[in-house]
Amino acid sequence: MVAGEANDIRSTCPYCGVGCGVLLKPDGDGGLSVRGDPDHPNNRGRLCSKGAALGETVGLSERQLTPQIGGRNAEWDEALDLVAARFMDVRAEHGPDATAFYVSGQLLTEDYYVANKLMKGFIGSANIDTNSRLCMASSVAGHKRAFGTDTVPGIYEDLEQADLVVLVGSNLAWCHPVLYQRIAAAREARPEMKLVVIDPRRTATSDGADLHLQLAIGSDVALFNGLLAEIARQGAADEAYVAAHTRGFEAALAAAMADDPAMTGLSEKDMSAFFDLWIGNEKTVTLFSQGVNQSSAGTDKVNAIINCHLATGRIGRPGMGPFSITGQPNAMGGREVGGLANTLACHLELTDPAHRKAVADFWKTPTVPQEEGLKAVDMFDAVADGRIKALWIVHSNPAVTMPDADRVRRAIAACPFVVVSDISLRTDTARLADVFLPATAWAEKSGTVTNSDRTISRQRAVLPVPGSARPDWKIMAEVGQRMGWQDAFDWETPAEIFDEHARLSAIAGEAGLDFDISAMAGMDAAAYDRMLPTRWPQRRAGAIDRFFADGKFFHADGRGRIVPVSYRPPAAVPSRERPFQLNTGRLRDQWHTMTRTALSPRLSAHLPEPFVDMHPDDATQLGLKPADLVRLSNDCGTAILRLRKNDDVQPGTLFAPMHWTGENAPASRIDALVASVTDPMSGQPESKASVVRAERFDARWHGFAIAQDRFTPQCDYWALARTGQGYRAELAGSARPDDFERWARNLFGLPNAAAQVMQDAARGSFRIAFLKDDLLLAALYIARKPIALMRDFLTGLPGSEANWALAGQSRADMPDPGPIVCSCFSTGRNTIGRAIEAEGLCTVEAIGAATSAGTNCGSCKAELAQILRRFASAEPVD
Ligand code: SF4
Repeated sequence: MVAGEANDIRSTCPYCGVGCGVLLKPDGDGGLSVRGDPDHPNNRGRLCSKGAALGETVGLSERQLTPQIGGRNAEWDEALDLVAARFMDVRAEHGPDATAFYVSGQLLTEDYYVANKLMKGFIGSANIDTNSRLCMASSVAGHKRAFGTDTVPGIYEDLEQADLVVLVGSNLAWCHPVLYQRIAAAREARPEMKLVVIDPRRTATSDGADLHLQLAIGSDVALFNGLLAEIARQGAADEAYVAAHTRGFEAALAAAMADDPAMTGLSEKDMSAFFDLWIGNEKTVTLFSQGVNQSSAGTDKVNAIINCHLATGRIGRPGMGPFSITGQPNAMGGREVGGLANTLACHLELTDPAHRKAVADFWKTPTVPQEEGLKAVDMFDAVADGRIKALWIVHSNPAVTMPDADRVRRAIAACPFVVVSDISLRTDTARLADVFLPATAWAEKSGTVTNSDRTISRQRAVLPVPGSARPDWKIMAEVGQRMGWQDAFDWETPAEIFDEHARLSAIAGEAGLDFDISAMAGMDAAAYDRMLPTRWPQRRAGAIDRFFADGKFFHADGRGRIVPVSYRPPAAVPSRERPFQLNTGRLRDQWHTMTRTALSPRLSAHLPEPFVDMHPDDATQLGLKPADLVRLSNDCGTAILRLRKNDDVQPGTLFAPMHWTGENAPASRIDALVASVTDPMSGQPESKASVVRAERFDARWHGFAIAQDRFTPQCDYWALARTGQGYRAELAGSARPDDFERWARNLFGLPNAAAQVMQDAARGSFRIAFLKDDLLLAALYIARKPIALMRDFLTGLPGSEANWALAGQSRADMPDPGPIVCSCFSTGRNTIGRAIEAEGLCTVEAIGAATSAGTNCGSCKAELAQILRRFASAEPVD
């Protein structure tokens, strides 16, 4: 282990593609202290709220630590023998393409390497795809089309050196907070540096921008084609560069000229302000993320952006270039090893006979498939129609996150043989497993990850392996060996796997491709353990300082491609029946399907309930009132969500977060509404432009519950979140229970506990508090309408002497903090508002000095600025 100061262990945050270094120290009680690593080049000591709360998520309360077969505990040998035998049987009877692996950007590169080798090298199918397909497959396809390889040309320092940073489809302040903080710090140091945000939504990121282009959903191609046309009109294209290093400019310009930028819905003034900024600043970085990728035109959007950089020669030099940023911690590692169904390994191509032969020779196997495998949506279609009969899902929750999630859940349930490797049984997908294999979790795993700017960092095991959990690479290697490929999967350590991966990458280097880390081969275990963050390429054949600095690309002729693209609207068109476009996305303090972040009370306090943002005009037209529950529906499914009326979204559009699952809000699984429409080149689903109908969910009653122990409500709508003192839940039902006291006793599992009851039958209100020795165990508040309670105050009461809890109010000596804004110091919106009013605060720094909010990780600074602006303009803050 590599130790930092005071024996901290250096590792990497497992949440997002920024790839922040962390210093970890076990507390001796199963927990960890976590600090940002000041020596890691990605974050230089910074962490966001999620990274800072990592220590709260490593407990074992939700872990499954023994294999299971059919729901009963089993020995490893029995489980692994069964997995190997069933996959071999299906392969023998129906062919290799009747099997599939669905893996994850959470895997370490070494895990990913073994999964890919097992499926593509030995089972003999390319049916391995990853949940990164849902995150950045369009960037991969766009890079390959423009550059000839999946190369991210930029590095993080470019974002600080740029004179203009353009963020497209990226809520960076919430989804990649440390990178946003780096940009914010650079802007503070150089106030002339400009930030433009292109996003249909107003967000914490756009609020801090010099210019926010709130374009129509899915119209990015029209905007960047408009920019390309303007570049040509102003004579700003670099003709010498275009002539020497690219192909396709004329055709791309003709396509751009034929497009109508008015499709963006932006004013000419805003568009020309953007065009002038972009054209006027040579040092421009255009960073893009899921808002670009998750689209039926995602690849075209990526190329529309890259086209502008190639046409102006703004690539391959410091402070400029197109920059794709990934959502997951190791989406890039997955791309490197071939975790996508349409790639081989080390950026080699399945469809290239020379590449196939080289890899087959290296792996000593005759069975590398010739065809691309099934991409994620197609894979689950094949599960649904019975073509895939054995499916292994590794650290992913496709029953929640895939488009048309209800259909995918039914398909997995009906698949003849499903294996799930994960850390917990408490996921919608793990509950469907025939065989569950308990894997080690982040703090117990050792290997490498690659972040968005190609930096490979070590993740180091810092906690002992609990129960009989095993590392993913080991689980898959043991299955490979049981299938008969003893030598090919005979590793003792992740260091040996990394070495094999590095040696294989030499083939890619020799083939003239970008991914070559052959200079990192030959490390022994000690050197691997000491490995410092290292950006690839690392070639034996000589260093490359910066991709494309010499104007050479990876197409056979060495030229980059300026690709003709034309605006295509999203696949689903709003109609009278389904008038709203639904945009989905992530929240600041949650990660994926909350399997880890929801374990942290601090993170859960930020936005504890699923919601939908709707423009006030639309809400008024539908007769919706604040805090109503709204039912969204379309042909795929339904979801019930709490209404938030605000003009962050444009009329006719909605935004809802993607995190809630059957485990914590079963009526609010938003991907149940996302149609399985994909980009034709990348196979990435269109997750941000489904069409839905919206109406009030007519609840007969609404409720709020708090308790020390976990509870599982039985009603039409509920959303459960962890608190510092236990759990909280929002509840609603369309049928009123006959006896709320009995219902409450069942809910909390307290059949005989002493209770205080307060009810008003005429008003339909009912409140009950359960106490033991004057300490509050649980309480339930019921009313006909959404209840006004001091929720954030009440959640702190379980376990305390609170025999006055039925009042639902704070006491004068215990003011209600309001919804949490700063997770580090649990500072609520009311606390901040009171400080602003009482002390006349007008800067984020002043709020920090008065309340501590924003003075640790800084993730909430954008929200603090937003609150200040809304106070200044007398807008409602909530
Ligand atoms: Fe982790 Fe936050 Fe850094 Fe992302 S920005 S790697 S979530 S600490």
